[in-house]
Amino acid sequence: MNILVCISHVPDTTSKINFTDNNTAFDSNGIQFVINPYDEFGLTKALMLKEANGGTVTVLNVGPASTEPTIRKALAIGADNAIRVNAEATDAYFVASQIAKVVKENNYDLVICGQESIDYNGGQVAGMVAALCEMPFVNVCIGLDVDGSNATVLREIDGGKEELKASLPMVVGGKKGLVEEKDLRIPNMRGIMMARQKPLQVVEPADAEQRTAAVSYEKPAAKAAVKMIDKDNVEELVQLLHTEAKAI
Ligand SMILES: Cc1cc2nc3c(=O)[nH]c(=O)nc-3n(C[C@H](O)[C@H](O)[C@H](O)COP(=O)(O)OP(=O)(O)OC[C@H]3O[C@@H](n4cnc5c(N)ncnc54)[C@H](O)[C@@H]3O)c2cc1C
Repeated sequence: MNILVCISHVPDTTSKINFTDNNTAFDSNGIQFVINPYDEFGLTKALMLKEANGGTVTVLNVGPASTEPTIRKALAIGADNAIRVNAEATDAYFVASQIAKVVKENNYDLVICGQESIDYNGGQVAGMVAALCEMPFVNVCIGLDVDGSNATVLREIDGGKEELKASLPMVVGGKKGLVEEKDLRIPNMRGIMMARQKPLQVVEPADAEQRTAAVSYEKPAAKAAVKMIDKDNVEELVQLLHTEAKAI
């Protein structure tokens, strides 16, 4: 079975986020980039499905050349080959259009995305890809089994789980649960060396419009400093909980 795993190149979760150009652009200075964590679960699941059923795992990123270390990491983890669509990922519709073009030109049984990227948190790309390719789509997946051309998908719903059936090819938006955290694969030295030789195809973007444009970004207000209260001063504690924290 041939699986396409879409990977988003995102700032490490510990990054300090800043903006430039009068808060209209993300400042990538000094930022370490990683594979979007939701996509790591999808990649590991794809590798497990390949091990059980045969086939190939291709990773795809829409991004400039600076995303290649992230793509190589996915190859080091075990993907067979990679495609980079050579364009800045400036909006969900643009990104989805590029992914859909690759999907239509190839013969994938399954397209795995993350439920959302942890940078812009759009949560739109996977659904748009499915719509553009006229494929079934299930998001927030925490389990996936494939039997021939049928998939059984487990998804998280408020306070419970839902099981669905769909026919392949389909698009899945996954998260932790597709595989457990302990099963995530870390690239070893052999994987890193092999990744250098694996094919990374760079393709030029298709014509696609950008349908949204960010106007500005704003960081959350800085947290107030911690107030230390003397252990014998319960009265002050109660008053602050009432007037400042408004917790009582
Ligand atoms: C320079 C720059 C300018 C931008 N300007 C704007 C703007 O003006 N307006 C705006 O709305 N957004 C802007 N963005 C953000 C851009 O829209 C997002 O990168 C893009 O929409 C996808 O992110 P998302 O959070 O919507 O993805 P989601 O829908 O949250 O991602 C879900 C899944 O889709 C897949 N996916 C997402 N992105 C990619 C990718 N690039 N390659 C492969 N798979 C992917 C992954 O599997 C991911 O887990 C800008 C980004 C950059 C870098």
